[in-house]
Amino acid sequence: MQEYIDEAEQSLLHTYNRYQVVLDRGEGVYLYDIEGKRYLDFVAGIAVFALGYHNREYNDALKGQIDKLIHTSNYYYNVPAVEAAKKLKKASGMDRVFFTNSGAEAVEGAIKAARKYAYLKDGRTDHEIIAMHHSFHGRTMGALSVTGNPKYREAFEPGIGNIRFADMNDFDSVLACVTDRTCAVIFETVQGEGGIYPAEQAFMEKIRALCDQRDILLILDEIQCGMGRTGYMYAWQKYGVKPDIMMSAKALGCGVPVGAFLMTEKVAAHSLAAGDHGTTYGGNPLAGAAINKVLDLFEENHIIEHVREVAPYLEQRLDELTRRHAFIACRRGAGLMQGLACRGPVAGVIGRALEKGLILINAGTDIIRFVPPLIITRENVDEMIAILDECFED
Ligand SMILES: *Cc1c(COP(=O)(O)O)cnc(C)c1O
Repeated sequence: MQEYIDEAEQSLLHTYNRYQVVLDRGEGVYLYDIEGKRYLDFVAGIAVFALGYHNREYNDALKGQIDKLIHTSNYYYNVPAVEAAKKLKKASGMDRVFFTNSGAEAVEGAIKAARKYAYLKDGRTDHEIIAMHHSFHGRTMGALSVTGNPKYREAFEPGIGNIRFADMNDFDSVLACVTDRTCAVIFETVQGEGGIYPAEQAFMEKIRALCDQRDILLILDEIQCGMGRTGYMYAWQKYGVKPDIMMSAKALGCGVPVGAFLMTEKVAAHSLAAGDHGTTYGGNPLAGAAINKVLDLFEENHIIEHVREVAPYLEQRLDELTRRHAFIACRRGAGLMQGLACRGPVAGVIGRALEKGLILINAGTDIIRFVPPLIITRENVDEMIAILDECFED
């Protein structure tokens, strides 16, 4: 492994401090490195491999599409994308879909749609967007501009401009940012990188009412918390509050790089039109085949029901762990998106877990994040807790 790691460090741009592991293959909820060591995976490629690794039906669907047609460009129709859009509309309750290649690109599209919607109303070009402190929306310039972590943004300023930051779950702080130029409010239904903070019911309702009153668009980022992770296909579906625009990615393709932004008919009819937005790869037949199969397998394998069954057990075991170790301050999260907030940096615990064959990730320096494949069982939870218990002891 060391040879590959050394080679990587000579060739790849050093934008990551990677764990010293070279991964080779996966099976269910386990990963193997190139020396054959097995790891229980509670990261799933950062909330991507919802269905686990080496899912035969998923793999066969991709192989079949590769042998037929991989790419067409968006100047022509292709069947997998048409079917994927139909299924995604049904799963989300939204009306129109634009497929992208990543989460960040879906955020870019959402921002463009919101600005165009406002532009068509008053012809101004100085509209503002309200985003949240501690948010994460991606690394491209638009997505970065609404990301509420100055550490990620500062060196790359100026961003797209006209962004105001409020505090998640503090409605008054949002209200204080509203002006006659506000065109959208954007946030993650459950903040991921920022430390696993779910939106509160009252916050969601008040924001929706504010947006309705002032014709401001509500944009919900469901890139990490969506796709069944919280026990709902999209996390916002729990609240009885619907966004005007939403983004999906990560588990949407379960490993094939895809994303999407979706909107209501009202926004679609008054925002992006022919020529306003595009992508070469987005929604190509291979991406479409992946999304199709993922959505089929979610239904056939009752993934959401499974999440609702196993997640309370994960919460219970994490709560017990919290009581056993003074280093852990508290647990918070929703469904299979959980965080343990600790009283100091967690890098040591995560490193120790890796040595013991458990893959975990942080969310900020002091929080351990749990975003496992959605197919984990109670036994997997027990196995994880047993290892983590030892790591905290150590
Ligand atoms: C990962 C993530 C993104 C960015 O997605 P990429 O595919 O990495 O561009 C945006 N928003 C949230 C909430 C995310 O977790």
